[in-house]
Order: sequence, then C-alpha cells, then structure tokens
Amino acid sequence: RTPLSLIKSAAETLIDGGKDDPAVTRRFLEIIDKHANRLTLLLDDLLLLARLDSGRVELKLQRVGLRGAAQEALDDAALPARARGVTLRNEVPAELAVQADPERLRQVFGNLIDNAIKYGRPEGTVTVRGRPAGARQVEVAVRDDGPGIPAEALSRVFERFYRVDKARSREQGGTGLGLAIVKNVVQAHGGDVRVESAAGQGTEFFILLPAA
Ligand code: ADP
Repeated sequence: RTPLSLIKSAAETLIDGGKDDPAVTRRFLEIIDKHANRLTLLLDDLLLLARLDSGRVELKLQRVGLRGAAQEALDDAALPARARGVTLRNEVPAELAVQADPERLRQVFGNLIDNAIKYGRPEGTVTVRGRPAGARQVEVAVRDDGPGIPAEALSRVFERFYRVDKARSREQGGTGLGLAIVKNVVQAHGGDVRVESAAGQGTEFFILLPAA
C-alpha cells in the first residue's frame, strides 16, 4: 500500500465518524502525519532521480576534505546510531581529498551510513574508511558488521525500489531509492559504486570518486 492510499483511508475513517472518539481521532491523524512525511521523502527522492536521469543536476564541484565530509555525515547520523546502540567510526585519513559537490557527497555518505545503521547489527559498528585508488581516484568505504546481503540480491540493491526484505525495509521507513541515488550521484561525478557482502559477514559499500 502506498503512503497516499494509507492517508486516504485514514482520512475516510475520520470522515465516517472515527473522529467522535478522541483517541481514535489522534491515532488516525498520526497515521496521516506519518505517511505524509514518507510521501514527502519519496517525492524528494523521485524528483532528484528524475533530475539526475535527465542530467539536470548541476554539480558544484570543489575540493572536499574527505575525513571532514565523513565526520559531518556521521554527526548527522548520531541520533539513529545511539537509538540502535551502534558505534560510528571515522577511519578516513586526514590527507585525502576528492573533487565533489559537498552537498551531494553528504547525501551519498548519509544514505550509506543510515543503511549501515538500519540494516547492520544492533550494538554493532559502522566504519567509514578511505584510500587512494591509483593516482586519480579515491575509494571510500562504508562497512557494517550486520547480517549481510545474500549473494543473489547483491547485484540488485542499486535498483530503484529493490529491497532484500520488503517488510523489514518498509518498517524502517526508507523510500527504496537511497542506493539508486548513491549510484547516480557518484556516477554523475565520474565515479562508480560497488558492494561486497556475505551472509553473516557484514556489508561494505565502496565508492570511487575523483581525487582532488
Ligand atoms: P531503503 O529505503 O529500502 O533502505 P535503499 O536503496 O537504501 O532503500 O536500499 C535497498 C535495499 O538494500 C534495502 O531495502 C536493504 O534490503 C538493502 N541494504 C542496503 N544497505 C544494506 C546494508 N548495509 N546491509 C544489508 N542490507 C542493506
């Protein structure tokens, strides 16, 4: 069921008299509020993907210190990490820099770190690393020690709306577009993405970006 159909049926319930009981009214208003928020996130992601597809996203490329960029994204994720008891580690060497749009880079890091927290192990560890890849590129890695991604799903996780465990992902509140956005944004920078995982061995996402 889409967020819109859930909003619609909650509104109909209220119109049909659910509003006579304050507790019921509150419950349905909360449903409307929650799914309106989901819909907003979904629309933002869909619009961004459509703009990336048509090449209408203008990247404001500049030299970005990678360790600082990773730390900003880790700080953004402090609350969900604390809620799951996850330790966040920044192991990016201080001297690495990439040629990137800082706002988009924050979004890429944010999606990968959020996923690592959501799908990783409760009380686990999420680590961001970086290293030079040849003379002209930098490889960034976001790793968790969670249950991993089964082999048959690995090649599909960057597809739009693909989810390994549909019910679980939906309950986590994602849009199903996070990794598609990561891939598109990184490719718009001239880089690429890949993932390595094995059942029970955690998951590590790698992105290549141009060095600065
Ligand atoms: P979602 O909104 O569902 O999180 P994403 O595009 O970000 O959408 O991720 C797609 C799917 O890939 C997720 O639903 C999840 O099944 C899987 N996934 C992503 N990151 C991880 C991870 N670190 N560990 C295990 N599974 C993951």
